Amino acid sequence: MMPVPLPSRAIDVLRTTFGYDEFRGSQAQIIDHVLARGDALVLMPTGGGKSLCYQIPAMLRPGVGVVISPLIALMHDQVTALESLGVRAGFVNSSLSAEERRATERAALAGELDLLYLAPERLGMEWTQEFLDRLQISLFAIDEAHCVSQWGHDFRPDYLRLSVLHDRWPDVPRIALTATATPATRREVVDRLGLGQAKVFVSSFDRPNISYRIEPKQQPLKQLLQLIRGEHAGDAGIVYCLSRNSVEKTAEALSQEGITALPYHAGLPASVRSANQNRFLREDGVVMVATIAFGMGIDKPDVRFVAHLDLPKSIEGYYQETGRAGRDGLPATAWMAYGLADVVQQRQLIDSSDGDDAHKRLLTRHLDSMLGLCETLRCRRQVILEHFGEESGPCGNCDTCLNPPEAWDGTIPAQKLLSTIVRLQRERNQRFGAGHLIDILLGKRTDRVAQWRHDELSTFGIGTELTEVQWRGVVRQLLASGLLAVSDKFGTLGLTESSWTVLRGEQQVLLRQQAVVAASKRRRAGSDGKPATRSAAASALDEGDRRLFELLRAWRAETARAASVPAYVVFPDATLVAIAQVRPGSLDELFGISGVGAKKLDQYGEDVLRVVATAQ
Ligand code: ADP
Ligand code: ZN
Repeated sequence: MMPVPLPSRAIDVLRTTFGYDEFRGSQAQIIDHVLARGDALVLMPTGGGKSLCYQIPAMLRPGVGVVISPLIALMHDQVTALESLGVRAGFVNSSLSAEERRATERAALAGELDLLYLAPERLGMEWTQEFLDRLQISLFAIDEAHCVSQWGHDFRPDYLRLSVLHDRWPDVPRIALTATATPATRREVVDRLGLGQAKVFVSSFDRPNISYRIEPKQQPLKQLLQLIRGEHAGDAGIVYCLSRNSVEKTAEALSQEGITALPYHAGLPASVRSANQNRFLREDGVVMVATIAFGMGIDKPDVRFVAHLDLPKSIEGYYQETGRAGRDGLPATAWMAYGLADVVQQRQLIDSSDGDDAHKRLLTRHLDSMLGLCETLRCRRQVILEHFGEESGPCGNCDTCLNPPEAWDGTIPAQKLLSTIVRLQRERNQRFGAGHLIDILLGKRTDRVAQWRHDELSTFGIGTELTEVQWRGVVRQLLASGLLAVSDKFGTLGLTESSWTVLRGEQQVLLRQQAVVAASKRRRAGSDGKPATRSAAASALDEGDRRLFELLRAWRAETARAASVPAYVVFPDATLVAIAQVRPGSLDELFGISGVGAKKLDQYGEDVLRVVATAQ
């Protein structure tokens, strides 16, 4: 008999074990290549489906696939999720007792495992290397491969050791995977891991199901509540804040509003951090309020929104953070509130940072691209993808596409502001921050105005055509585009060289119309005009299907709790949505739904059919 060709065996595993119909993007080519013992470097956005690229070859090739991952805290969940699919997997890291570790090692040696997750620091131990010598290894998968890059933001010294993989086991194919796209990082990964011969697979970095929105920061907490209540009631989400203090305050404030919100930052005891992370992963609808210390490698597929209450330092960081939303492919929101104070603060942080001028210039360049994204009049997604070297058309799923901002000619207001700064400097040798400058332009007789006799300035009261909020928008945008500078740690403002081209009338200043009415115009309002209060995953469903979806969700929560696994390990939202729509009446029909594999059919099939039947 002819041997079955590899690709068809791979698609069998995809369908039977994972319950999916087709490979996505370049998954099939990557799996083919690795099955043929080729090395691969895989660049795919978060949620793109990287894991299958090594899991399926590891299941099909003889021996065990060794997965190196820095995400020790998540290994247990990853292995549980695989076991729930019927995949033979185990892990070894410092959280195991010696007894547990030996049991896993015995299983691996006896050929009882297809996948073995290993913490990178283990590889430094001669003992581990000898253990690996005794194993039949089908492949090495190096997850989060950008951790080997010293320029990247997640550098892990232990990753430098991974060069041993090639030196000691030159015949074992290696597949390195990362969602960090910049060419510089990619080069470093190839260099340090000796992947010069590897075939590189680059996927599009677009995440079409994520809707990007950036709005001016006015009352951030209120705006956040509006987002959660109006569009993401009962959804899981992450809220990013810059400081530990604002993390705690925001979590507290959301809790008081009846939202299940938990804090996460590096200052909390490790036990609290891991308890909160566990609840976020296991329970439905938990909002995690966190610093950027949280989130790398979080596999939770049903995070429905990522909100930023502070400005990220770069588009790379922003894209990685927002990428944690909607890994299951269902609609998700990336929302940010951004204001004048953010720009001032970030510019000051750079000025006061350690490091030489070259380093500061690099940080400034990162920040400028981020600010460019915030203030753009173009499609947000186009700007983001362009940043990663990818061309695209307007997306139709970001705020600027859905609600095109109008540009207005801000040249004259800009000149008024800049000349106020010049006068204060030349005539009085004084510098001030935005608040006082705006008071002068609006002609407000504050104590400070009286004290310095600023009502005698020729620009006093010449700016009443704009409101204070609009003026703050002008200052913010001038700062963002480098037409204004933060001069010191007090946040006083000064001119830049390009300010003079504006003052001399050589440059027109186009500004983004302040979206003052943004909140009232918000799409997704219910048909009666009231904002819809329902979770986004269910928003595609009609009334009856949504009721069934909620019933399935309740059943899933119960089942997950009983088995103490995360809810998505039972079934992801996308599968529940499909079940609610299809309403399968038999196990066969249920098996046809994406995300339902053989093992889960066996384990949960009857229960699911019963829930469906109750909703008929
Ligand atoms: P990444 O590691 O690239 O962030 P994952 O491997 O976690 O992404 O996959 C993201 C989600 O997409 C998971 O829920 C996974 O089960 C699902 N997925 C992956 N490949 C497919 C596919 N071919 N069809 C349907 N869903 C898929
Ligand atoms: Zn767009």
